Amino acid sequence: TFRILHGSRDLAFALVTATQQVSAIDESLRVIARPHDVLDPVPAEPAKPGGGTIAFERVSYRYPEGRKVLEDFSLTIPAGQKVGLVGPSGAGKSTIISLIQRLDDVQRGDILIDGQPLTALAQDDLRAKIAVVPQDIALFHRPILENIRYGRPDASDEEVFEAARHAFCDGFIRQLPEGYGTLVGERGVRLSGGQRQRLGIARAFLKNAPILILDEATSALDTQSEQEIQAALANLAQGRTVVAVAHRLSTVSAFDRVLVLVDGRIAEDGHPTELRRRGGLFNSLWQLQAQGFAAE
Ligand code: ADP
Ligand code: MG
Repeated sequence: TFRILHGSRDLAFALVTATQQVSAIDESLRVIARPHDVLDPVPAEPAKPGGGTIAFERVSYRYPEGRKVLEDFSLTIPAGQKVGLVGPSGAGKSTIISLIQRLDDVQRGDILIDGQPLTALAQDDLRAKIAVVPQDIALFHRPILENIRYGRPDASDEEVFEAARHAFCDGFIRQLPEGYGTLVGERGVRLSGGQRQRLGIARAFLKNAPILILDEATSALDTQSEQEIQAALANLAQGRTVVAVAHRLSTVSAFDRVLVLVDGRIAEDGHPTELRRRGGLFNSLWQLQAQGFAAE
């Protein structure tokens, strides 16, 4: 089944899961149901190798049923740069990371990766350039080993173990009753938010894409989890372009660049230390968070 359906890895995985585990069908449907109204160009340009430069060129975007979120928006992120997006709720942070993945097409302007418009690439090639660590990963009712391998289905067991070690999950996995064979997902073993996040990081390690998109979880974590996740992310970020929606400003303090978004526009753009010194919005958010308020 896998080989025949290689054109859509998600669908193939979902089908294999569904045929093997009827009880997991509703979980699989959630993967299949992902919006797919963007089309592959015919013919698609072969993807150029690159370090993951991202450019928004005079982009305007509105949601199908919404008002304009971005207007004449331009932004260049050089390969290897680590960028944190901060700003109030509704500012456009999630929209920007969705558009980089081409979850929808923009109405005007272009978004380019390594110099190629997203619309010129086959979606499989685009996906190969981007690994996403979401706020909460989808787990399938299958062994934890397979759930990590989902990051790259042809990875060997040894490669899965290695990714898990880099992501600081090998330790807790080996303590589970069946180790890497433990069933997870809705009806499997319950994992904490921090453990799930580290599984998401392990998947991304395995995928080994030049661009890493991170949607940091808003939920509070205990200090130990927090430290392990920060360390795992620092490992993962190495040598990649990173665009992160960061809720904890401590996360972005280690980045090269912070963009403060307000109402779809870039209000501040600079190194975190520089922005704090400037005493503007970022600095105010920083002060608020130091006093225990959320940055969003
Ligand atoms: P942030 O992630 O910074 O909180 P978003 O990118 O989610 O901001 O939202 C930017 C704007 O787009 C907001 O005004 C929000 O209400 C709107 N928006 C977000 N998602 C949708 C959607 N699916 N349909 C219509 N409008 C949306
Ligand atoms: Mg958001």
